[in-house]
Amino acid sequence: MQPQTRLTLAGQQTDSSYNSIVPPIYQCATFRFEDVGLTKGYDYSRSGNPTRRALEEVLADLEGGADAVATTSGMAAVSTVLALFDHGIHVICAHDCYGGTERLLSLLARQGKLEVSFVDLRDLQAVEAAIRPNTRLIWVETPSNPLLRIVDLDALCRFAKAHDLLVVVDNTFLSPLQQRPMDFGADIVVYSTTKYLNGHSDVIGGAVIVRTGELNEQLQFVANAHGTIAGPFDCWLVLRGLKTLPVRIRQHEHNAMAVARFLAQHPNVERVFYPGLPSHEGHEIAARQQKGFGGMVSFTVKGGLEAVHHILRSTRVFTLAESLGGVESLIEHPATMSHASMRPEQREAAGITDNLIRLSVGIEATDDLIADLEQALAYEPATVAA
Ligand SMILES: *Cc1c(COP(=O)(O)O)cnc(C)c1O
Repeated sequence: MQPQTRLTLAGQQTDSSYNSIVPPIYQCATFRFEDVGLTKGYDYSRSGNPTRRALEEVLADLEGGADAVATTSGMAAVSTVLALFDHGIHVICAHDCYGGTERLLSLLARQGKLEVSFVDLRDLQAVEAAIRPNTRLIWVETPSNPLLRIVDLDALCRFAKAHDLLVVVDNTFLSPLQQRPMDFGADIVVYSTTKYLNGHSDVIGGAVIVRTGELNEQLQFVANAHGTIAGPFDCWLVLRGLKTLPVRIRQHEHNAMAVARFLAQHPNVERVFYPGLPSHEGHEIAARQQKGFGGMVSFTVKGGLEAVHHILRSTRVFTLAESLGGVESLIEHPATMSHASMRPEQREAAGITDNLIRLSVGIEATDDLIADLEQALAYEPATVAA
């Protein structure tokens, strides 16, 4: 069965009492024993919960992994993965990774728990030069945030295997319907389910999916030990969101392509970053390793910060807010919002200029989105200053 079909059936077998078509929310901390030493499969909800299990099974199935753990946030997923490793390992991480991941890795490095190097993973020579005797894993994000740079997963995974390193891919900017890193050899995939997988901007959640049973044993142990697991109601919401993932993704991508094409021909737009455009530097690799180009579009504008402020204040359909992957379109300014915690020189090195705007393109009517951007971009670059 295709993923689209599997998703509609997901979780239907959870309720053995009354066969409800939707998994019940087992909102309970503990489970009654049938007899001394005898349970019906669950004893305590940190260790296991049927609603969470239903979500984990769907995620592992979609990703092609051995198993999964649903966590309380995307950052809890990152923490759980890092907790799999011994003290003192060295991590090679994408130089343009999610800000929260950079913050956590840098914190753990300051605390002496691990070592980290931030490297442009598109450059395998640079990755090779960064390897230390204690290097254990490469942390990848593709497409990256906010410039949607693409890392060649096939090349990177081959490189990692040759050097006996594990590959972790944060796949949050896409979904397993568009990119399955394990098909290229990745060992672990993490998500912020807050974004596309839940898709309705009403949950903070995350997930870790592992390729092998051996990694899964460690994962289940560590998630239970650290208690980073998601609550039943949030898992139920993510399961509900997942059912419509295929149709949402189709509309996100249809709209994002239309928005990218519109922006690319607009006189007030300097540059558009969307992997679906042939002009994007990573287009060919994205076309090879992704089934779709995603719903995120970034662009730079003429007229500097004043123009940016004018646009951010003018849109009516695109709402000024951080986050991404929900049904509603969002607009934000990386330099002062999502990437404000980076030092200015870090931002500059990452190519995040002050005139860069990021869009999370939602599932609204395409024409409404284009019309909204059209009216917001209708300014004279020379006279936009307030
Ligand atoms: C949002 C995000 C995270 C963190 O997820 P939370 O659910 O906010 O904790 C991690 N990685 C990426 C790429 C993200 O976009």
